[in-house]
Amino acid sequence: MKIAIAKEVEVGEHRVALIPDLIGRLVKAGAEVLVECGAGEGSFFPDEQYEKAGAKLCSDKASLWREADVLVKVAPPKDWEVDLLKEGAILIGFLNPLGDPLIVRRLAERRVTAMSMELIPRTSRAQSMDALSSQAGVAGYKAVLIAAAALPKFFPMLTTAAGTIRPAKVFVMGAGVAGLQAIATARRLGAVVEAFDIRPAVKEEVQSLGAKFIEVILQEDTVGANGYAKEISEESKKRTHEVISDHVATADVVITTAQVPGRKAPVLVTEDMVARMVPGSVIVDLAAESGGNCVYTQAGKDVVRDGVTVIGPVNLPSSMPVHASQMYAKNVLTLLQYLLTKDGGFNLNFEDDIVRDTCVSHAGEVRNERVKNALGSLLSVVSQ
Ligand code: NAD
Repeated sequence: MKIAIAKEVEVGEHRVALIPDLIGRLVKAGAEVLVECGAGEGSFFPDEQYEKAGAKLCSDKASLWREADVLVKVAPPKDWEVDLLKEGAILIGFLNPLGDPLIVRRLAERRVTAMSMELIPRTSRAQSMDALSSQAGVAGYKAVLIAAAALPKFFPMLTTAAGTIRPAKVFVMGAGVAGLQAIATARRLGAVVEAFDIRPAVKEEVQSLGAKFIEVILQEDTVGANGYAKEISEESKKRTHEVISDHVATADVVITTAQVPGRKAPVLVTEDMVARMVPGSVIVDLAAESGGNCVYTQAGKDVVRDGVTVIGPVNLPSSMPVHASQMYAKNVLTLLQYLLTKDGGFNLNFEDDIVRDTCVSHAGEVRNERVKNALGSLLSVVSQ
């Protein structure tokens, strides 16, 4: 079995799907590991380290893709990359199957078995394969550093001969994986932290990190059967706005991470809230790529409104490529070890939720109901 590690071609993608430290385990299991020259360059893992770990370097992208029985990568493949894969090959990566279901159709047409890392079930059994969580943790951490660098103030309280500095106040909206990491990081930097989420279950986690939980009592169920937040009603949005307004207005830093899977991100920070913030304050919006939690957010840009800097970073995990790659690689390796059989085959048991949820194309068919629905809706819009 040939496992190939691709060099990313997406602009701004510095991560790599497998790091040298983990290659030995695959070689030991009987796999031949091929690595495209320069694949680890962006994340500071030089070719020599891969070679030393037992991988074979390959300078020709096309032949690496054609030879691969399993190809691992980070960002979704380009169409021309998909066309290089041989029939029956296995592709593992963030494939964005719900955002761009056409790529899945193309993979199915090429009879590629595609495993989408963002669809790994969020269960304890699959925890060590959960790339959404590992990368969200990186984003939550980095968001706080970006905010701290942009804020014209200290984060910690300082008692100095030149006077006492009050600690910065940070308000984190959305206390999922990224939000909790943001809370922990802001606390470590000495800020006073408040947090809010429509899932009441996170209250204790927020408090255990030393932040104050801002509770909004809503008259509806805010959590779907899958454990994720649901889109809330207009009435609940109004109630939320009333409660959080003052907290945004008095924050030096607002970090927003609120997402509802498959939907545009909810707008939580409105014009009136920004207008009430002290000039110099900073908003870092981690939902920038899915529409933004702040009304002024522009993905990939810093916008200044009413003296408030609104930062909409994209692909934050890629800005910390060493540890982001290390964590992603561990997720990928665990999935590979789970699927590889002793005789060098691949165990695709569709009764197993990890395989069923993660596999989006196999044997010429688009799989996974959510992906089929996304493709169906897209094709019906296109045909109208
Ligand atoms: P996410 O990125 O989809 O959303 C981030 C946060 O935004 C969530 O906490 C969500 O509740 C919140 N949010 C959504 N709409 C909001 C609104 N209008 N106002 C305020 N907050 C809002 O979530 P995520 O961080 O990827 O994961 C969160 C979910 O996944 C949780 O259910 C978590 O328990 C679960 N999870 C489970 C595991 C596991 O069991 N292994 C691992 C990771 C995550």
